[in-house]
Amino acid sequence: MAHYAIKEIFRTLQGEGGQAGTPMVFVRFAGCNLWSGREEDRAEARCDFCDTDFVGGEHLEIGQILARIEALSGPRWICFTGGEPALQLDRALVEAVRARGYRAAIETNGTVALDEIRPFIDWVCMSPKTADLKVSSGDELKLIYRGQSSEAILAYEKLDFDHFFLQPEAGARYDALLAGALAFLQNQSRWRLSLQMHKLIGLP
Ligand code: SF4
Repeated sequence: MAHYAIKEIFRTLQGEGGQAGTPMVFVRFAGCNLWSGREEDRAEARCDFCDTDFVGGEHLEIGQILARIEALSGPRWICFTGGEPALQLDRALVEAVRARGYRAAIETNGTVALDEIRPFIDWVCMSPKTADLKVSSGDELKLIYRGQSSEAILAYEKLDFDHFFLQPEAGARYDALLAGALAFLQNQSRWRLSLQMHKLIGLP
C-alpha cells in the first residue's frame, strides 16, 4: 500500500489566483525539490523565498487521506499543494478523491512533469520558481513578483495557460512590490493581480 508524506490537511478558502474565494481542502505534501525546507539550507536553495513549512508530517495511505478529507465535510475541491505535490501525487490518489465526488486541483512549481496525472486534474496552477520547467500548459500561471522586468514576465505568455496572475512576494518589500506589480498591470490585458486573500480574512 502506497504511503504519501503529508504535512497537513486542512480546510480553508483558496486565497490566491483564479480560484480565490473557493472553499477547498488543502492537502499539503511534505518535501520540495527546490529547497530542503531547513533555514540553514536557504542560501543554497533553488527557491530561496519560500514561506511555507513543508518539513516533516506523517506518512498516510489513501484511505487515511480520504478519511481526513471527509472529516472536514464541506468543500468539494481538493487542492494538492506542498512543498512540491507532483513529487508524490499519483493517479491512484487523484482518482480516489474524484471517485468520492471531489474535484482535484494542483499547485505546482512546474519542475516535475504531470504526465500520468494530468488527465485527472481539474485545475492546474503552476507557480514557476526556476527556468527549468516541465509543465507548459494548464489553467493558471501564477508568478510571484519579486521585481522582475516586464520582459521577463511577458516571456511566460508563450506558455499555454488560460489565466496569468502576478502576485507580490510577501515580506519586508511587500509595499514596494505591490506598487511595482500594479504599475506593470496597468497596460496589460492578460495579466491580473493575485493577493493572498486568505491572510486578509484570517484563514490558514
Ligand atoms: S517551490 Fe514552492 S514549496 Fe518549494 S521552496 Fe519554492 S515556494 Fe517553497
